[in-house]
Amino acid sequence: MADLVSHPDEVRVVSKRFGQGAADLDRYLAFDGYKAVQKALSLGFDGIIKEVKESNLRGRGGAGFPTGMKWSFVPKESAKPKYVLCNGDESEPGTCKDRLILEHDPHSVIEGVVIGGLSIKAKVGYIYIRGEYRYLVDIMRKAIADAYARGFLGKNIFGSGVDFDVYWHTGAGAYEVGEESALMESLEGKRGVPRIRPPFPAVVGLWGGPTIINNVETLASVPHIILGGGQWFAELGTPKNGGTRLFCLSGHVNRPGVYELPLGYNLRKMIDEVAGGVWKGHKLKAVTPGGSSTPVLTADEVDVGMDFDQLMKAGSMLGSGGVVVLDDQTCMVKYAQRIMMFYQHESCGWCIPCREGTDWLKKTLNRFHAGGGVKKDIDNIQYLAENMLGRTFCPLGDAAAMPTISIVKKFRKEFEDHLEGRPCPYEKGVVEQLPVLA
Ligand code: SF4
Repeated sequence: MADLVSHPDEVRVVSKRFGQGAADLDRYLAFDGYKAVQKALSLGFDGIIKEVKESNLRGRGGAGFPTGMKWSFVPKESAKPKYVLCNGDESEPGTCKDRLILEHDPHSVIEGVVIGGLSIKAKVGYIYIRGEYRYLVDIMRKAIADAYARGFLGKNIFGSGVDFDVYWHTGAGAYEVGEESALMESLEGKRGVPRIRPPFPAVVGLWGGPTIINNVETLASVPHIILGGGQWFAELGTPKNGGTRLFCLSGHVNRPGVYELPLGYNLRKMIDEVAGGVWKGHKLKAVTPGGSSTPVLTADEVDVGMDFDQLMKAGSMLGSGGVVVLDDQTCMVKYAQRIMMFYQHESCGWCIPCREGTDWLKKTLNRFHAGGGVKKDIDNIQYLAENMLGRTFCPLGDAAAMPTISIVKKFRKEFEDHLEGRPCPYEKGVVEQLPVLA
């Protein structure tokens, strides 16, 4: 079970049932559970999409695409069955919010899936849960069974004449299946590699049918939007960035944890006040604002509102809400090395720039950090990463390249210092303890 934290600045919408025992259906019902789906049945598909569009809800998985617009791309009529997929393959380093939603409020996810289904006239939804989250599969399996037992799922839900089935499915530990088309391949029982697009899932998705696929937090927000109204939700955030966000604060802070804050909340305030400041009295060096794939910000760049547009303007991304704080004792070369180890390991190998690029970068960064670097390596690391950007089959290549480019550009001096003070001038005595990396 994950520990819960809180702060007075939090605005609890998606997390309002955390710690209330709402995985139990009766407890969920006591907190307005399944009222949204009943309201959605009366709104009809156009009414649902209107509210979701008005809410300015944007995808919480990373890309930040407007959810209502995504749903409206699904053709109204289709010869093939339509589907709703909930992407619970949460694997981005620094991100652990969907885990809390699935653990504390699984019925809100089921409700979001059903409402998404009603908006496109689908009859089936899947909740795909990361393989490593095995204990959450048990929670979700029970929640789905309980909802069936009460007639909230299955034939004629809530006596409406509408049928809707929900199934759970689990991954097998590949980061890559968090990419929407790879997730569909996996769900179909194939190797989890991405598909060529277009066509996009809204038109040709799971088993060739029109499909909407959304992150856990996105779908868990939907029942609140339907009950509170799109406008109410929009006003919680900033223009074009409706609502709140579960921010996962981790790294060198005094109070790490998942906090729900309005979109647009200032990053410096988030670190200093919500997370209790940088630990051990150290100073801030850098922040990864939205999961390991997002470009780092320096300590001078953290006076920024945490929404999709403001972070984009600041040269980074809101991503999946994983805020990783690094103190002034951190070696940024090692940070780049650790990030690249992850992406090299998780590259599915389908396309050359990612498969070879991440491997070259990992080997170069390993050698460089261990004291075997030459001056030319610094430019080569940047050049290699820049040449991966936008040239890979799916966003994993970009995810590996973007933080690397930002670290070399913003912390070049640390790379140069490694040439002077081999092996690592920032972590004397620590680097020797690391395993020798191939
Ligand atoms: Fe696979 Fe990487 Fe290519 Fe994506 S970018 S398809 S993860 S090799």
